[in-house]
Amino acid sequence: MMALLHGRAGRLSKGESLTPPIVNAAKYALPGSPDHPLPYGRYDNPTWQSVESAIGALEDAETLCFPSGMAAVTAAIMASLTPKSSVLIPSDGYYTVRVLLQEFFHQHEISVTEVPTRQLTDHDVEGFDLVWLETPSNPGLDICDIAAIAQRTHAAGGLVCVDNTTATPLLQRPLGLGADITVSSDTKAIAGHSDVLFGHVSSRNGQIMERVRQWRKLSGSTPGPAEAYLAYRGLMTLELRLSRMCDNAEALANLFYTHKAVKSVRFPGLADDPSYGLCSKQMMRPGFVIGLTFGSASTAESFINDCPAIFAATSFGGIQTSAERRARWGDAVPESYVRLSAGCEPTTALIDTIRATLDSL
Ligand SMILES: *Cc1c(COP(=O)(O)O)cnc(C)c1O
Repeated sequence: MMALLHGRAGRLSKGESLTPPIVNAAKYALPGSPDHPLPYGRYDNPTWQSVESAIGALEDAETLCFPSGMAAVTAAIMASLTPKSSVLIPSDGYYTVRVLLQEFFHQHEISVTEVPTRQLTDHDVEGFDLVWLETPSNPGLDICDIAAIAQRTHAAGGLVCVDNTTATPLLQRPLGLGADITVSSDTKAIAGHSDVLFGHVSSRNGQIMERVRQWRKLSGSTPGPAEAYLAYRGLMTLELRLSRMCDNAEALANLFYTHKAVKSVRFPGLADDPSYGLCSKQMMRPGFVIGLTFGSASTAESFINDCPAIFAATSFGGIQTSAERRARWGDAVPESYVRLSAGCEPTTALIDTIRATLDSL
């Protein structure tokens, strides 16, 4: 955290702003040889570098930023696959990642095998060039053992990439657990204010990062400097926000667990949750996303729409508590399954308001 918040401290000269400048640049002065780190706006940008070094301090790894989580996912896939590669991916992970692989990578003879997250810990990884993990999985909140899978995948000659969006590097350190690459949709908790799309890729493998950088430069998958600044600004309060969000999620999970209006709860921090054991092993805290099932889809809709403390919205990780029925997007969950993202509201007020809505259902 010190490195994150004071990263600029050692480098400032008198009169310089504590915050990084938003450098709006397509062109940089480039007399003579073009061999310079800032030759043109698509290659690099000082505002990208500010957010990259801040996120890099948390990941303890070289980090490159992207205009969205999916742009980061695409870069990680492009950097690690060659034609005819085979990939193992979670069947219950972020839907768009699966569609991307099916729609645009199948045609390059990339073979894609889907396995549920809860079976991945014990799944055979022989023959896979890339093992893609998302843990806790979104929206089902199952967890797989990153260290065990990384060890077996490396022994079999493959790479492991972890989508760490639901945890953030403050709750889970995939690279420390042995993963080769980590990607994140910083649109969620890292930027945290529901006002910007952003993403990053981190790795301690210099060759992989060279490919990721090359992909960004050649494909033009480049974030705007103003967006990079918003992500930087959000990141500066990540630890503070997460601490409240995790407190709220724990209090809410306990409320849901005991309330008769709720049929079942998924939260990796509940002692009888299937994810509890692995969560305690590899995560600092169980996070801020809760899955809950009601008696019917209409009860679930009433809960979301009647509660004044909940924004009916997709996505998660923002400062406001929000919820949605994931089946409306076609996720393989019950019609009455609600994914709730705990926000930063004062805990007692949030619990009281949500309890009153549950009582009224
Ligand atoms: C949201 C999300 C993404 C995609 O991120 P965007 O910023 O929306 O492009 C990828 N993976 C996971 C787990 C996500 O939740």
